[in-house]
Amino acid sequence: MVAKDSTSPLLRLNGRAYPGVLRFVTVAGTLQVENQVDLETYLRGVVPVELGFLSRATPAALRVQAVISRTYALRKIASADSILDSTIGDQVYAGADVWAAAADDAIRDTHGMIVAYDGRPALTLFHSTCGGHTSPLDAIWPRYSRPISYLQGVSDLDETATPYCFWSKYAHWREHWSIAELRATLQQYLPSEFPGIDDQLRGPSGPIDIRITGRTPDGRVTHAQIRAWGHEFDLHGERIRWVLRPPGKSLLLRSSKLTRVEIGVDGLDVEGEGWGHGLGLCQVGAIERAARGSDWEQILNHYYPGTYVMQAY
Ligand SMILES: [Zn+2]
Repeated sequence: MVAKDSTSPLLRLNGRAYPGVLRFVTVAGTLQVENQVDLETYLRGVVPVELGFLSRATPAALRVQAVISRTYALRKIASADSILDSTIGDQVYAGADVWAAAADDAIRDTHGMIVAYDGRPALTLFHSTCGGHTSPLDAIWPRYSRPISYLQGVSDLDETATPYCFWSKYAHWREHWSIAELRATLQQYLPSEFPGIDDQLRGPSGPIDIRITGRTPDGRVTHAQIRAWGHEFDLHGERIRWVLRPPGKSLLLRSSKLTRVEIGVDGLDVEGEGWGHGLGLCQVGAIERAARGSDWEQILNHYYPGTYVMQAY
């Protein structure tokens, strides 16, 4: 239901407020709602949600998020697809309910500025927590067969060799699957990686084995082999996150930076560091660097080395 309140310029849809214009379109038989807004207004509904930790975020950290979210959106709009998904598929967008004065200031102070490389918007990937080092794009997402110079991975350690993102809830984490849970997880998620395999995953699985066969220099898994039901399944890049989902949750495995993978009679134990793909900017690290006095351009330069800030409009 859309409602218009005569005292407010905002529209309401299912209890949420949106600026601009709402368009209803049918795509493949389902109703899709598009919110048409200018880019700067769009950012007001993105920056507070994407950065999170608003209470710990200084103006410099908010400016960093404003500039990389603007860059991401502008790059997408410049490609064939001018519609941004309102979920993590692109960037989380939550309309006007999340507008926050501190984020609005950061958006206004960086109006039209983007991260550029070679005169074009850079690919400003970001994630929550790197665990101490970011990773090379082509190793994590093999569909990018050519490396990108500013997404090769950088250290995120301070002078005491402590990760800047040390205070993240997911700096270290562990997950456990019983053998029955592991079997069910593999039955549910292997078929999306290996279409047509469903029928072969019925009945007793036989012994299950998981071997890590490749890593980036900073420790992120890039090749893993799962043996079960008499088959070998090779997973490349960070796909292990899509298969080994924590039991009872649909979430991906927090990261592919795995420090322990052990199968025993009690099940599977996995420990790891960080949250997210580990590419580009580490958000918790950026917040910490800002709190310790780095300015927003220094932070962008650290995580995207060789790029520069450009006035796009
Ligand atoms: Zn980090």
